[in-house]
Amino acid sequence: MSKPAKKIKIFDTTLRDGEQTPGVALTTDKKLELAHSLSNLGVDVIEAGFPMSSEGDYNAVKKISKEVDTVICGLARALKSDIDKCIDADVGLVHTFISTSPQHLKHQMGKSEDEVYDMAVKAVEYVVDQGMPCMFSPMDASRSRIPYLIKVCRGVEEAGAQIINIPDTVGVMYPSKMRSIIEEIRKEIKIDLDVHCHNDFGMAVANTLAAVEGGCNQVQVAVNGLGERAGNADLEQVVMSLEILYDIETNIETERIYPVSKLVERLTGIRVMPNFPIVGDNAFAHESGIHVHAVLKKPITFEPIKPEMVGARRRLVLGKHIGVHGIEAKLNELRIKVNGEQLKEITNKVKDLGDMGKRVVEEDLVAIAEDIAGKKSKKERTVELVDIELNTRLGKKPIASVVLRVRGEEKKGRSEGVGPVDATMNAIKSALGERDITLEEYHLDAITGGSDALADVIIRVGNGKKTTMARGVHEDVVMASVTAFINGINRILEL
Ligand code: MN
Repeated sequence: MSKPAKKIKIFDTTLRDGEQTPGVALTTDKKLELAHSLSNLGVDVIEAGFPMSSEGDYNAVKKISKEVDTVICGLARALKSDIDKCIDADVGLVHTFISTSPQHLKHQMGKSEDEVYDMAVKAVEYVVDQGMPCMFSPMDASRSRIPYLIKVCRGVEEAGAQIINIPDTVGVMYPSKMRSIIEEIRKEIKIDLDVHCHNDFGMAVANTLAAVEGGCNQVQVAVNGLGERAGNADLEQVVMSLEILYDIETNIETERIYPVSKLVERLTGIRVMPNFPIVGDNAFAHESGIHVHAVLKKPITFEPIKPEMVGARRRLVLGKHIGVHGIEAKLNELRIKVNGEQLKEITNKVKDLGDMGKRVVEEDLVAIAEDIAGKKSKKERTVELVDIELNTRLGKKPIASVVLRVRGEEKKGRSEGVGPVDATMNAIKSALGERDITLEEYHLDAITGGSDALADVIIRVGNGKKTTMARGVHEDVVMASVTAFINGINRILEL
């Protein structure tokens, strides 16, 4: 049995295979932004694209090669023209590939094993002759005949390849099989071995780790598990498994993982599931009373990964499973003081709302707490809405005028916006003279059906120093938004 490497190199293919995710197309600017953050994250190689596939990809790869200080790799079929185009794009590593499986030989290429062997060796020789480092992939390796696969690997090693990547192109491996195939290849091959797994059966990460057990010293991953069909092995999961479960080092600065995942979500428009490991919304969320109590006392009780280690933060979800300790922690965070009796009453109220299927956000908790603890009446609030006037006409920008009472003093504001909600928010900001207040998140739900449905607006407001959640419910979507916004501003100013 082989011993796994002490350190694993991370080859990121978010910009190549990840970009082949159905529905994803990134402009050069977006690719460049992403390449910079992958470089800061600490990946060892960035596969930036497939220069021969389009002029846009060629330009993006060229620009990234010029501006990003990490090894940039480009993909090329085992053809002179593809390889030339890749080298033209100034890459630091040429990744050339050809299929070796009977399925692809017969149905895709109509070539014999010997013909493909010659093409593979010639392609690698050509790359090496140009003075370029070369990585070779026998595409669909996992369905190839093993003796033939090993023969090709030996041939390209002799031809001067620096790395051989073993792709599970259609995601049909399982961990024990992957490990034994890699072990067999490892016995024959001295150069670096890399693996590229797809998630068709949900085993991309497990297979990648099995390949490391078998002797691979580099792994291919994509942020948020993006990639063709069910995607590639997920960067976050592979890296954290290596670091925590296997105690194997990588060059990744793990606390940048969460921000990079968010950036990829934003640029590709593809959101990760809430229950996705490490970067999902629920990955560090606790709602059940028992868990919350324990986690607050000692995080390792129910947190296998420290949220700050990946740049995320713990979230306590208020719902029917919340207990007294969770509510107390949340109230402390919001700097609201209550006595034991009041705390119990507040907890019961939140649980009741949860039982009714209502999502309870910070603002609701504040309202409940203030109601029960009798902290503040409506008149005492820092900011109150007195009046609002809204003008919308087809083909014209909406204009909103508002009158607020701020600490007892009337203030007026007027502004236009891209829509009525935007105009109103801008008018409120101008009345307050608070330019720093920004709306960081805006979420609108219709509670019931029909055009008279209740609009439920949940927002996150911030002023650069503090942020808070707030909510507004109204049959008028503008009023629901205004209520949420003013609630949020009050929270910020009163914190
Ligand atoms: Mn792939």
